Amino acid sequence: METIINADHFIELEHRHGAHDYHPLPVVLERGEGVYLWDVEGKKYFDFLSAYSAVNQGHCHPRIVNALQKQAQVLTLTSRAFHNNKLGKYMEYVTKYFDFERLLPSNTGAEAVEASIKITRKWGYTVKNIPSNKAEIIVCSQNFHGRTSTIISFSSDSESKVNFGPHASGFITIPYNDLEALEAILETHPNIAGFLVEPIQGEAGVYTPDENFIRKARSLCSEYNVLLIADEIQTGIGRTGSLLAVCGNCSCAGDCERQENSYTRPDILILGKAISGGTYPVSAVLCDSSIMDVIQPGQHGSTFGGNPMACSIAMEALEVIRDEKLTQNARHLGELFRTAMQEYIETSTIVLKVRGKGLLNAIVINDTETSNTAWNICIQLKENGLLAKPTHGNIIRFAPPLVISEDQLYECVEIITKTLKAFEK
Ligand SMILES: *Cc1c(COP(=O)(O)O)cnc(C)c1O
Repeated sequence: METIINADHFIELEHRHGAHDYHPLPVVLERGEGVYLWDVEGKKYFDFLSAYSAVNQGHCHPRIVNALQKQAQVLTLTSRAFHNNKLGKYMEYVTKYFDFERLLPSNTGAEAVEASIKITRKWGYTVKNIPSNKAEIIVCSQNFHGRTSTIISFSSDSESKVNFGPHASGFITIPYNDLEALEAILETHPNIAGFLVEPIQGEAGVYTPDENFIRKARSLCSEYNVLLIADEIQTGIGRTGSLLAVCGNCSCAGDCERQENSYTRPDILILGKAISGGTYPVSAVLCDSSIMDVIQPGQHGSTFGGNPMACSIAMEALEVIRDEKLTQNARHLGELFRTAMQEYIETSTIVLKVRGKGLLNAIVINDTETSNTAWNICIQLKENGLLAKPTHGNIIRFAPPLVISEDQLYECVEIITKTLKAFEK
């Protein structure tokens, strides 16, 4: 006799056998296509998280899946002890795509952030001549750069760090979007090697800084001979309506002479998530030779970094971004989304504001940080066929795959506003 396996069964299995490291929405997914997901009971949803912006190209994109299948049949992993026939091509492709001279391959976002910290420190000692072990990196409060023990050392989220010490030193925290604080530290601290920053703080609740923040931070970093390190793991690759969030108002998706537009060039660019379309763990650090060449054989490495699967999948995933004009779509639909939400907010008591760029947006719920309202709204959104999750307390992020169409977007606005109306006071 066939047993009926429902969602509770799978949730219970995870709960019984897994680490309790996440608090997921109670939905068990088994299939995805484009902007849609289906759960084990066959219910269909719009995905408004996109695996934290990893699935920008949509679920199971046929071209990316094909690249995976083709590569899986011939070669999956060699390690870097030997060369493979995909890594060089990939490095050439990605460095051209983003206009940097060199690429360091890795797998997860946190791993790429770690590598960028090592590169920055070593550059500080060997190029800037900072005294041994004195290098410092400036970071922003409310940052999210990953979960390793070094990275959580400079998190301002106590849940992420309490009881995980001793924490790593060498990091100085300033408020986000505060150029005066940045300059004050640069003026008084001669041993600063880098400034690590998210051009928009995604996890913190989609905090979009002032228009000129990154550009001015760039000139301060240049003035004080400090590396500007942009963590675009969440904001990069079309998500915010430009190829990178540091491209500002340019929506050419990388085909222009970026320096002539609003592009702010970081010294180090960190990518992850959507570089593979969520099909495989791929991340990368990009910078020019004058910085990357501080790393010599034996000083860094990763068994899986730069494997032929990752290279083939990521090249196809980046081709899809360009061919399908997903950056331009994100820009256009993002504007429509915020306009529609803004219209709703005019008469709403439950939503305070909508903010964001491109298709990385969030609404702020009119309740305390510790209330369950945002969570309860997300549960109801799920019932109504749309999956989203609170970021911090009372903030809900809305980040659909960039392949979403205008009709689908308006259908989602309907679901969201209908759901919110039930929570109006
Ligand atoms: C997701 C994310 C990371 C960490 O990436 P993992 O792949 O989860 O290690 C780092 N920085 C930012 C901005 C992110 O959004």
